[in-house]
Amino acid sequence: MIPRRYERLKQVLNQRQPDLTVLIEDVHKPHNLSAIIRTCDAVGVFAVHAVNRHSDTLTYSQVAQGSEKWVKLNFHTDITTAIAHLQQHRHKVYAAHLSDTAIDYRQVDYTQPTAILLGTEKWGVSDQAADLVDGHIIIPMQGMVQSLNVSVANAVILFEAQRQRLDAGLYEQVRLEPKTYRQVIFEWGYPEIAAIYRRQGKSYPQLGERGEILPDG
Ligand code: SAM
Repeated sequence: MIPRRYERLKQVLNQRQPDLTVLIEDVHKPHNLSAIIRTCDAVGVFAVHAVNRHSDTLTYSQVAQGSEKWVKLNFHTDITTAIAHLQQHRHKVYAAHLSDTAIDYRQVDYTQPTAILLGTEKWGVSDQAADLVDGHIIIPMQGMVQSLNVSVANAVILFEAQRQRLDAGLYEQVRLEPKTYRQVIFEWGYPEIAAIYRRQGKSYPQLGERGEILPDG
C-alpha cells in the first residue's frame, strides 16, 4: 500500500461513527440496498444491520457494488433479535415509519447512539418492529405520494444525523476502539493478506507509520 492510500484510509476511518447505524428490515431490491449502503459510507456509518427473509436470493456483495468494502454488514436472524441487540448496545432505535405517533425526524438527538430502522419497500416497517422500537420518526410529506423511496428516506435522515454530529464535533475525534481501528485499517489496506491471516486464525501484523507491514516480533 502506498503511503498516500494509507493516509486516505485513515482519514475515512478516523471519521467513522460506531454509534450511528441503520437497521434494514426486509428491503430486498438490490438498487435500494446499494443506495442505502452507499449513503451510509458517505455519512461515516461504520456498520449496518439487516434482517432479510430474502437473503437466500441476494448476497451482500451482489447488492452493495463495492460499498461493502467500507461498511460492515451484520445479519440478524429476525427483527426482534436485531432490535434487542442494538438496544443492549445502548442505541435508541427509531423506526422511520409513517405512523400516527411519529415525530418529525429533525426532533431526534442523533449525537446519542442511534439506529434508524427502515421498512420494506411495499409494506413498510412490520407491526412487531414498530412495537419494539424506542420511537417513530417521519419525514413530513406535502405531495400526492404518501412515502419516499426507502433509500431516499435513509439519506434524508442520515444527513440530518451527520449535520448534528458535525456541529457536535463528533467527526473530529477518532470514535473507534483502538483494537477495532487496527483490525479494520489492516483489512482495508491489505484485504487479501487479511483473509489469509483470518483463515490461519492468526492476528494481523502491525503497520508502520507509512502503512507498511512490520515484521513479526
Ligand atoms: N406503504 C409503506 C408504508 O406505509 O410504510 C411505504 C414503505 S416506504 C416505500 C419504505 C420505507 O421508507 C418505509 O418503511 C420507511 O422506513 C421509509 N420512508 C419512506 N418515506 C418516509 C417518510 N416520509 N418518513 C419516514 N420514513 C419514510
